[in-house]
Amino acid sequence: MQTRRRFIQIVPVAGATLMAGREALAQAKLDANDAQAKARGYLHDATKVDPKKQPKWARGQTCANCQLYQGKPTDAWAGCPLFGGKQVAGKGWCNAWVKKA
Ligand code: SF4
Repeated sequence: MQTRRRFIQIVPVAGATLMAGREALAQAKLDANDAQAKARGYLHDATKVDPKKQPKWARGQTCANCQLYQGKPTDAWAGCPLFGGKQVAGKGWCNAWVKKA
């Protein structure tokens, strides 16, 4: 009986821990200093893009209006498959930007 009670106590805690772990993974924000982010010219703020270094950039392009942005255009952060689903800033930008269809 004691073992069963212990099991009943542990299962919800383990489940909650797993859920929290999965959420943390899904919500990890992309580090702008990450090598892959730098290679793509990613910045959290598209207004800071240097057009000389990033000739593909055009005013008005942001993650929020990119085809790959997995959130709503109004979401401050959302996943991007280019960076393994890590969260990118809606106001961000990288040189893989594709106009949302
Ligand atoms: Fe932002 Fe699009 Fe680049 Fe992803 S691919 S980081 S959503 S501009």
